[in-house]
Amino acid sequence: MKTFKIGGVHPEENKFSAGKTIITTPLPKQAIIPVAAYLGAPSVPIVAKGDMVKVGQLIGQSGGFISSNVHSSVSGKVAKIEDSLDASGYKRSSIFIDVDGDEWLENIDRSPELVRECHLSPEEIIKKIADAGIVGLGGATFPAHVKLSPPPGKTAEVLIINAVECEPYLTCDHELMLEKPNEILVGVTILMKALKINRAIIGIENNKKDAIELFKKQIKSLNIQGVEIVDLKVQYPQGGEKQLIDAAIGRQVPSGALPIEVGAVVMNVATTFAVYEAVQKNKPLIDRVVTITGKSVKTPGNFLVRLGTPLANVVEQAGRMPEDTGKIVAGGPMMGRAVVSLDIPTAKGSAGVLFMTEKEAHRMQIRNCIRCAKCVNGCPMGLNPTELMNFTEYEVWDKAEKCAITDCIECGSCSYICPAYRPLLDYIRLGKGKVMTIIRGRNK
Ligand code: SF4
Ligand code: SF4
Repeated sequence: MKTFKIGGVHPEENKFSAGKTIITTPLPKQAIIPVAAYLGAPSVPIVAKGDMVKVGQLIGQSGGFISSNVHSSVSGKVAKIEDSLDASGYKRSSIFIDVDGDEWLENIDRSPELVRECHLSPEEIIKKIADAGIVGLGGATFPAHVKLSPPPGKTAEVLIINAVECEPYLTCDHELMLEKPNEILVGVTILMKALKINRAIIGIENNKKDAIELFKKQIKSLNIQGVEIVDLKVQYPQGGEKQLIDAAIGRQVPSGALPIEVGAVVMNVATTFAVYEAVQKNKPLIDRVVTITGKSVKTPGNFLVRLGTPLANVVEQAGRMPEDTGKIVAGGPMMGRAVVSLDIPTAKGSAGVLFMTEKEAHRMQIRNCIRCAKCVNGCPMGLNPTELMNFTEYEVWDKAEKCAITDCIECGSCSYICPAYRPLLDYIRLGKGKVMTIIRGRNK
């Protein structure tokens, strides 16, 4: 089985919600839709207080090339536009909509029939994806239409579908693969057409054998050409773009470069499904699957949630917050971030909510570094985490930059593996932010 060559760790999988059918959550009383819940420039609200909106209606216009349209996920009346807290811990401009009924735009096809043929040109497909506000649903939320538009001089050779879901606990992508394989496969062919290529690889880790078998079977049954399933050895963080490219096609993306540099475009599997819905069904990105999980969660599961629904409403579906909760994490335990409130809305990048028990959340006493180099061996980017932590602690920014702190993908493998419980990622994340600010200032 294939995997990436540098670093990697094996955290406990704890996929308690694996195999749990996706349940649609009830509509909230009020949806809070952030206009900047993705990477890039925030969108510009095009509705005002008192306006009536329908499901699927454009309410925020993309604010630049690296930006994304925002659509209403509910029908009702715009109550206000003001800042609200999101999963990152920052306040962002959001559109609050009081829900009234569930009235959809008429051009959205809500029937379950598979629409196989796509007669649009590559340019028309990319425009439709941009119009629908599709961003990477794996967590990075990078606008999909930008990935599909390689810069001049660069050409895509292969599309790699990221169906790895290496983050422990999360199962939203896995369950979507089991329930919507045909739609995802049509989505892959649409993306290949948009990129004008005839080769795609779907990378799936071997702990999802059912999905691997199902996709192989459906490729044959739908007679899809040029799409290959690659069975990957389980290793974290294989879902990182650079790690997946290495595992799937054996190419190394250089430091600071994008995947297109080696001819690859990587798209998350849930994003591929959203592309199918946008292009074939006229459905903009208004909902997503979210995993609610944790060792003490009564009924961990996968839920189809309208964007803007407060996470507290989704959590209720899984049996309320466990009493022994020590920390609530938006996302998984390796790359997720602790949140202070469940009143934050479900956003395009919300893959899950993890309830860590008090015991799990308790940080161990930090000890001195014993120079074991486990963090160096585990780093998938070939960095020296202990050195980067020291540079950050002592604010030696020139050395931090020289030692490629900005290459850190914040996977947390170093902190996870350190026997001295050193908070490597906490420091490196801080240092990376500082160095990026310095670089941006210098470029200006
Ligand atoms: S968090 Fe950064 S430094 Fe630590 S292992 Fe991951 S990529 Fe390397
Ligand atoms: S893993 Fe921890 S103890 Fe070992 S070298 Fe890295 S920082 Fe030091």
